[in-house]
Amino acid sequence: MDYLLTEEQQMLQELARQIAYERIKPIRAQLDEEEIFPRDILADLAQADLCGTIVPEEFGGLGLGCMENVLVLEALAEGCVGVATTYAASFLGAYPLLLYGSEDQKAKYLPPLAKGEVLGAFALTEPQAGSDAGAIATTAVKDGDFYVLNGTKQWITNAGEAEFNTIIALTDRAKGARGASAFVVEKSDPGISFGKKEKKMGIRASVTREIILEDCRIPKDRLISREGLGFIVTMKTLDNARPGAAALAVGLAQSALDEAANFAKERQQFGAPIFSFQAVQHLLANMATQIEAARALTYAVARHLDSKPKDYTKEGAMVKLFATDMAMQATIDAVQVMGGHGYMREYPVEKMMRDAKILQIYEGTNQIMRNVIGLALNKEYSKKK
Ligand SMILES: Cc1cc2nc3c(=O)[nH]c(=O)nc-3n(C[C@H](O)[C@H](O)[C@H](O)COP(=O)(O)OP(=O)(O)OC[C@H]3O[C@@H](n4cnc5c(N)ncnc54)[C@H](O)[C@@H]3O)c2cc1C
Repeated sequence: MDYLLTEEQQMLQELARQIAYERIKPIRAQLDEEEIFPRDILADLAQADLCGTIVPEEFGGLGLGCMENVLVLEALAEGCVGVATTYAASFLGAYPLLLYGSEDQKAKYLPPLAKGEVLGAFALTEPQAGSDAGAIATTAVKDGDFYVLNGTKQWITNAGEAEFNTIIALTDRAKGARGASAFVVEKSDPGISFGKKEKKMGIRASVTREIILEDCRIPKDRLISREGLGFIVTMKTLDNARPGAAALAVGLAQSALDEAANFAKERQQFGAPIFSFQAVQHLLANMATQIEAARALTYAVARHLDSKPKDYTKEGAMVKLFATDMAMQATIDAVQVMGGHGYMREYPVEKMMRDAKILQIYEGTNQIMRNVIGLALNKEYSKKK
């Protein structure tokens, strides 16, 4: 379908696709199997000037919007969602700074990120605080010109690889969620350490670790915005990131459809290509239709965000929910189309099905997305007569 992309958007998409097909696809099975962190590919992305798409030009980026970001993410996910997640999680770490950082903070952290010299990470989740983000227990206590952080963040993408981490911690425990604040903690700060690399079902090229903060002392100017705004920073960060998760789902599902359709042309049973069987065609038809619907919604929400609306929480949740549920089903169906071959590691759809699952879990589970949408609808309808 023609989504009326500008020439610049098409070029960006092509560039990311070229990296996905020429650099990522040939080695994605090895990255997955051996759990290799994709440093070389990140270097290629930096070389192609793709690490600063959403960073303003004054801080060394391309100054582009959510639409361009989703185009790049969709293309990278056609190659490998593990690699694309690594790239996306770096922006997740940068959003608190992009949205709420001081000029000095932006000037320090964004130019090296845009050049691809450093990675970011965003750390909210804790052992006792998953969906219930308000239950975080990490604290940040002011001590003169410093804050001292204590606590453990769990399952943080890019942890230990990222040079800077945006961390949500309580500056006022008595106030609960309203007492949370956001900080930048550097990998080299005293008192920060990282847990073991988690063994995961999918996205195994990406790195997931704990961040352990033990009397981690950071200068007070690492506070993002002001004390007590940590949850607003978190919610806006996630609202901005969710179209990106949807784009990963679209790219992944498209890639699964391509694999399944190409296989169906070649595989012969009962003296005919399996593509000629209507039951197989129906699986492919459902996939293609759902993918196009998810892509259209992803682009629509990205353009909506770029029009700078006041509130886009509901739309962010809707697109994440729809596209990631779609990708899960599409990858299951791709395996079904390919039968036993689809189940074998030799073929890429097995990895794709494993990779799809995380999209329904991270950046807020899809049950939580439904809660968010339900809450917004309740508010809207209670205002209507
Ligand atoms: C590979 C990976 C990478 C991650 N990367 C990051 C990262 O970079 N930064 C970060 O901060 N976090 C990260 N996370 C954490 C992720 O965001 C959480 O796993 C997610 O928010 C869900 O929390 P939980 O796993 O503790 O599940 P739980 O909150 O324990 O939920 C378990 C189940 O209960 C359901 N549930 C819980 N509460 C409700 C409710 N109120 N209504 C309906 N259903 C409910 C959930 O939907 C889920 O199905 C990552 C996780 C993984 C696995």
